[in-house]
Amino acid sequence: MTGGGVEQGRASSYLVGLIGEGITASLTPPMHEAEAAALGLSYTYRILDLIELGRPAEDVGALLDEAHRAGYAALNITHPCKQLVVQIVDELDEDAARLGAVNLVVFDDGRLIGYNTDWMGFRDALRAGLPDAPLEHVVQVGCGGAGAATAYALLHSGVAELSLNDTDDRRAEQLAARLRELFPAQAVHAAAAPTLPDLIARASGVVHATPMGMAHHPGVAFDVAGLREGAWVSDVVYRPLETELVREASRRGHPVLDGGRMAVGQAWASLQIITGEQPRRDRMERHFRTLVEAEGVHHDAGAR
Ligand code: NAD
Repeated sequence: MTGGGVEQGRASSYLVGLIGEGITASLTPPMHEAEAAALGLSYTYRILDLIELGRPAEDVGALLDEAHRAGYAALNITHPCKQLVVQIVDELDEDAARLGAVNLVVFDDGRLIGYNTDWMGFRDALRAGLPDAPLEHVVQVGCGGAGAATAYALLHSGVAELSLNDTDDRRAEQLAARLRELFPAQAVHAAAAPTLPDLIARASGVVHATPMGMAHHPGVAFDVAGLREGAWVSDVVYRPLETELVREASRRGHPVLDGGRMAVGQAWASLQIITGEQPRRDRMERHFRTLVEAEGVHHDAGAR
């Protein structure tokens, strides 16, 4: 084997990791470690970046084996391995199976159990951040990894009609077809770009799940001026927390949910499943916002 491997962990403490590509700057390790320390747990969270290890995504099964032998208790899984892991685990949590994506593997007596906490993060974020959000008709822009989880959470939360848009029409159509099977009593359809303005004009809420708004993808994916009065807006982007969409929608008086709560929500649910403890969501969120805001300061400083 030419690539790098998994380093040994200490017994009698939690050793957890994140497997994915290009994840060296992930905020998940400090989020987990700070909250675990506050709970009095000995907890180490390591990054296993496939690019740094020189391993292809298809090695994720071998890496999970190595991690298990090295004493890891669990691993979060991210792009591009979330679907691959579905075939590898011994047991799948019901929602992870329905979603067809795993972002957490827990080792339980030698068995690999797969969960998906991304959708739980968004469900909880919506509940806590926009508790009175009407759910009659929601438009979602972006149907990739994050969008699959938010769309599932929206339907799970009771959205009556969901319109799915993506610049790649096939992605929107495939996601709509899968979700229609899972939620047959609710209306789910793909929405091609020309129909978007009309749909947005009558939607009770809009979820944005594309990378637009990140530093390297500036701009907004749809016309904020076209939103119905009082419609709520939710952005999944959290680097930065205040995207152009969040800023513009807030300025126009729309109830807005930024991407921070979802990011914290998936980490909170993962930490709870891994340890069986009750992490404090408010404490995790305060810490997370400090981390992201500090990043903004560094970026600004770097730009000057
Ligand atoms: P992805 O590449 O899997 O999916 C993005 C999708 O958006 C693609 O299908 C693409 O075709 C589509 N798209 C791009 N521009 C578009 C546009 N203008 N209009 C319509 N569709 C468009 O990416 P992802 O993993 O889903 O991540 C998307 C964003 O969500 C990133 O910024 C990521 O950081 C963020 N994210 C946030 C959380 C969270 O917890 N808050 C979790 C995961 C991802």
